[in-house]
Formats: sequence, structure tokens, C-alpha cells
Amino acid sequence: MSKADSAPAPTNFIRQIIAEDLKAGKNNGRIVTRFPPEPNGYLHIGHAKSICLNFGIAEENYGGICNFRFDDTNPVKEDVEYTESIMSDVKWLGFNWGDRLMYASDYFEQLYGFAVQLIKKGKAYVCSLDAEKTKAMRGTLQESGTDSPFRDRPMEENLNFFERMRSGEFQDGAHVLRAKIDMSSPNLNMRDPVMYRIKHAHHHRTKDEWHIYPMYDFAHCLSDSIEGVTHSICTLEYEDHRPLYDWFLDNLELQSHPRQIEFARLNLTFTIMSKRKLLKLVQSKAVAGWDDPRMPTISGMKRRGYTPEAIRNFCERIGVGKKESRVDVALLEFCVREELNRTTPRVMGVLRPLRVVIENYPEDGVEYLDGPCHPEDAAMGSRKLPFSRVIYIEQDDFLEEPPKKFFRLGPGREVRLRYAYYIKCVDLVKESKTGKIIEVRCTYDPETKGGSSPDGRKVKGTLHWVSASHALNAEVRLYDRLFTRENPGNEKDEKNLMESLNPDSMEILKDSMVEPSLLDAPPEKKYQFERIGYFCVDSKDSSKDSLVFNRTVTLRDTWAKVSRNLGLAQK
Ligand code: ATP
Ligand code: MG
Repeated sequence: MSKADSAPAPTNFIRQIIAEDLKAGKNNGRIVTRFPPEPNGYLHIGHAKSICLNFGIAEENYGGICNFRFDDTNPVKEDVEYTESIMSDVKWLGFNWGDRLMYASDYFEQLYGFAVQLIKKGKAYVCSLDAEKTKAMRGTLQESGTDSPFRDRPMEENLNFFERMRSGEFQDGAHVLRAKIDMSSPNLNMRDPVMYRIKHAHHHRTKDEWHIYPMYDFAHCLSDSIEGVTHSICTLEYEDHRPLYDWFLDNLELQSHPRQIEFARLNLTFTIMSKRKLLKLVQSKAVAGWDDPRMPTISGMKRRGYTPEAIRNFCERIGVGKKESRVDVALLEFCVREELNRTTPRVMGVLRPLRVVIENYPEDGVEYLDGPCHPEDAAMGSRKLPFSRVIYIEQDDFLEEPPKKFFRLGPGREVRLRYAYYIKCVDLVKESKTGKIIEVRCTYDPETKGGSSPDGRKVKGTLHWVSASHALNAEVRLYDRLFTRENPGNEKDEKNLMESLNPDSMEILKDSMVEPSLLDAPPEKKYQFERIGYFCVDSKDSSKDSLVFNRTVTLRDTWAKVSRNLGLAQK
């Protein structure tokens, strides 16, 4: 059986191309992809799409390889902090690059050699126009560009200048190396693009060795070729760059000519994905950092309580296409909810406590009631819930004058306490000055233990609760969307971007109470707070003595509505 026969049925056009290439025996049946982040920021959910695609394709094809390469050709914006976070995020997502960790900066010498080759072939020249002149002479989409007066500089002189650029003799901007292609090309990328610029900058890996750095378009395609990448998968905006990549690859003697395939980048509603803009949010302190749980970064989502499985599942569901679109962020939330529903233990936590005294329950009585940890997964076992005379319920679950459809507690009403008893409200205690309800007085029916009545009496509402003397105090951080506008990234000017920030994207509750089984809740552990949502223990700020929970996602499934609007079927 050939490799092509054993491969799974292709689920998108890229996998289809790869299956066809395998079948046709191209590249001797090798599949090499790569994920090439620039270490100039943290990875976001858009990168996750690319990671899942590239690593996924390699995993699916027997013997396939995915290189993990840092495109570290721009020393000014790069940082070791970014490199480290990127590696840890890829690992967390569940992908393994083995010994295939690469750095474009490792190819600087080779790339320099390629540039020299092009000079020797009369296909590259040192241009000494300043940046402004160069730009003015580039032309526009309507007008062709103008040849640089340095375009026909003799080859020997080009070599001499280029070497002196390298050795650091000139100031930043004094010269550049340009490819000699066509100043009248309708494709602006082909109008003698810059290959190298002078930059007296410290590089986090090559230190002070280089005074010139290759431009992305030159370095990127050649790094792919050096690594023997067979399929260079990138986003649509590089479609116009492909002729330039092909030009470099065709004009140099190379072992391998990768095939570039473009796909539509992921855009999400209520989310921005540009690293430059995300950096702006961090620097302006609009968020607490790159891993703020409201950020669309992998590390933010991790801290918020999203799981790698949910993110991978989301990436699979959105598919890979050729058309720019904007995915509803509700789909991502749906995937998270779906996963957490299946995997998290249930607990009770009261976010905004209201004191309830059960008058006919013994003063010092305590009993331990059984609460299953998962309604469908018996293997998760159960926990013991202490019940006593004073409990807390959610403030929202009580109304003095309840409207018709309100099925919770109110004067004279009876409700069920989850896993416990029916209780009935018999009185209220109000603060004398403000009239605020500070305590609800109830009676309980001892016959209803476990939550059902032997006389068949029904109640409409079931409330969550905690025993006041047993519950643990916790801080709960309620996160909501970071932006109020569906397309905040559209805003060209940054003032607008900042103005579309959601002022209510975070609410901190300091007085929440959670059931005592959470005493040893470890960092990152995820739970369903019954009737409320999914929460995780904050990885940075939570400790045994002061628990901090992040709301990952609410319980309610708004996706059903969204999917109807989008005409999508719900799985
Ligand atoms: P940004 O525009 O946010 O700075 P970038 O494309 O410059 O992103 P890179 O570090 O160069 O960031 O990206 C690494 C890889 O991730 C590239 O192959 C790129 O195509 C891919 N990628 C980046 N953003 C997205 C996205 N929104 N959807 C899919 N793939 C993406
Ligand atoms: Mg980039």
C-alpha cells in the first residue's frame, strides 16, 4: 500500500493538494510543512489555526514532518520572552516538534551567500537612494515605477558595497541591496524589492555579528527551501508575494522549490488578531498582560480556562478555505463549553451571597449530603456537601415581588436546594436604613431529603447553595468580551480601537463563597459552578488561603441561536 492510499480522506483543499502530490509521487513522497512564527509577540488563536493545520498535516501523513521555525530576521522587535512563550504555547496545544526546532537566523550566512550569487548573476544591486526617494520612485498601482540610478552599478562594485554593508562600515539606511526584477511590473512586490537593509542592531541569537538583516520576503522563501519544506502554507495576503518567492527560488541554484499554498486567515468577531494591536493593549495597560484572560492569545485563553482540545476542535470545525471571513466568537465559546461540560466536575459556588436561615433546622446540626460530580459520568464519583442551618444562596435567586415567570425563591414560595431539601420562605430581614434584604428566613421539609417529596409535591425552581459555616471565601473574576464592536480590528486609528474596548470586560467579586471541596483546588483546575458557568483556578493569583477563580465561559448556550442565524448545523 502506498502512503497516499493509507492517508485519511482529505478534509480541506490543502489536504487535497497534498494527497494529490503524494499520489503523483512528488518530492519522493515526502511531506514537510512548517510553522514559522516571528518572535515579536505572543501567539493568538489565529496562529493556532496555522499550527493545527501544519502540524496536523504532518501527523496525518505517514512520515510527515513539521518544522518549527522562528522567523527571527527582524532583531528590533524580537524578544526572548516571546520565543519562550511561543514554544510553551505550541507544546500546550499538544504538538511536538521533536528535533525540528529551527531559526531563520541560523541561515544568515547561507542567505548572504544567496544574495552574493544574485549579485554575481547581475540580478541584485546595491541602491544608495534614501528611503523617501525609493518610495517615491516605486510608482503606484496605476503608474509604473522608475529605475534607480544605481540599478546598473557594476557587479564588482555591488559586491564591494555589499561586503562593506555587512562589515558595518555604513550607517543605517545608507544603502540597501535590491533585487533587479522589473520596475514596471503590475505587481508592486516585483519592483526591485529590497533584500537587505543595514541595521546596527543586537540580535537575540546572533548578538552583534551582523550589521545587515535580510527582508522577510527574501529570507522566508529561502529558509523554506533550505529546510526542504515541500508545502509552504501561508495566509492569503502572501498570494501577491508568491511571484517574488518564485523569482528568488528560480534564480538561485537550489535543491528544493517549495510549493506555496495560501489560505484565509482566521478572523473572529469581537476580537483583534494583529500582534501590533495586541502589543498596544499590553503597553497601554488596557489588559494585565499578554496572558490576560480576555486576550485572544493562547496564553490568555489558557489562563481563562480554555483547553487545548477545545481550541483544536474549534480549528477543525472552522475548516480551511480561500475566502476571507469572520468567524463568530460564539463558536469558539461553544467548543469550550462542549468540552468543559464533558470533563469538569460540578461544584456549587455562590457568586453574590444572600444569607438564608432555616428556622426549623437544629442550631448545631450538620449533615453531609451526596452530590454527584457529574450528571452523566458516574466514574467521576461524588462529593460530600455539608448542610446546616445557615446557608447562602445567590442574591439573584430571591425576589421580594417576583414576576410570573420567576421560578425561584420569594415570600411564601417553596424551592428545591440542589441535592438537599425543599425550603419555603417565611420571612425577610431588611437593613433598617436602606431597606436592602440582608437575610431570608425559611423552613425546610425534612421529608424531602435528596430533593424530592414523597407526597409528589413539585417545585419549579432548584437553587444552588453553600453552607455558611463550611463554605470557603473566594475571589471570582467574571470575564466578558474585550470589545463591544464586532469588528474592532477594522478601526484604522488606534484611538478608535481603544474606544471600542468593553468597559465591563472584567468584574471582580471579592465575597463569593464556594463549597469546601474546593479547598485543595490546584491552579488551572476547571469546574462547572452549577447553574452559573465554567470556572478555573487562576494560575497566577490563586492560593490555598485566597482562592481566585476565572470565569471561562457562561453556562448558557447562545450558540444554538447563533448557528440558526448563520444557517449552520449544530453538531
Ligand atoms: P500578525 O499579523 O498578528 O503580526 P503574523 O502573520 O505576522 O501575524 P507570524 O508570526 O508571522 O505572525 O505568523 C506565523 C504563522 O501564523 C504564519 O504562517 C501566518 O500565516 C500564521 N498566522 C498568523 N495569523 C493568522 C491567522 N489570523 N489565521 C491563520 N494563520 C495565521
Ligand atoms: Mg508575519
